[in-house]
Amino acid sequence: MAETGPSPTTTREAVLDAARKMLGSGLVEGTAGNVSGRLPGGLVCLTPSSVAYDTMTLDDLVVVDLDGTVVEGHRSPTTERDLHLAVLRRHPELGAVIHTHAVHATMFALAHEPIPAVIEEVVVYVGGDVPCCEYRGTGTADLGAEVAAHLHDRGAALLANHGLVTCGATPDKALHIAALVERTAQIVWGARAMGATIHPLPERVNADMAGVYRYLRDNP
Ligand SMILES: [Zn+2]
Repeated sequence: MAETGPSPTTTREAVLDAARKMLGSGLVEGTAGNVSGRLPGGLVCLTPSSVAYDTMTLDDLVVVDLDGTVVEGHRSPTTERDLHLAVLRRHPELGAVIHTHAVHATMFALAHEPIPAVIEEVVVYVGGDVPCCEYRGTGTADLGAEVAAHLHDRGAALLANHGLVTCGATPDKALHIAALVERTAQIVWGARAMGATIHPLPERVNADMAGVYRYLRDNP
């Protein structure tokens, strides 16, 4: 598990904290994955490209405007900058985006198969099944547009043949969703490996809990 330190008090600290915890909890390896957080005033703080998470400091973070122009920082922003900004531009109620290559979630991304919302808390925190987006090239604006379109009523989406994206009010909440989705993917994969029939939640429960997701997303 990730080390626990003092709680972050600024968006920049929250981005760095989520990046370190993402590594500590095994959701990424090396310098893969990236985190963004919307700053008060509308600029966006991004993790940099090709900097190890365990040595990353606040000084390594990059601040950009919503069009991607760097306004602060001496590093290059993550190569998935357009993915983060497309989601934040399209969904003003969101404050953070996380992208990881979590192993079990990525297994579903390779299969182009949604992760089914068969556990109650997934519906509450994600809004329903985790959909799989159409394949688009890494780092392209097309990928950002494709993903943003899938996140209007969901807290997570799979990138075909690539990985996972989650979103929330804060980096910490987006990280919680990433961990929940990865754990769910592992549970569903394991249940299938047992040869089990996976039963869906009752329709009524799904609808009610999706309403809770919407409320939490609009009232963070
Ligand atoms: Zn990636």
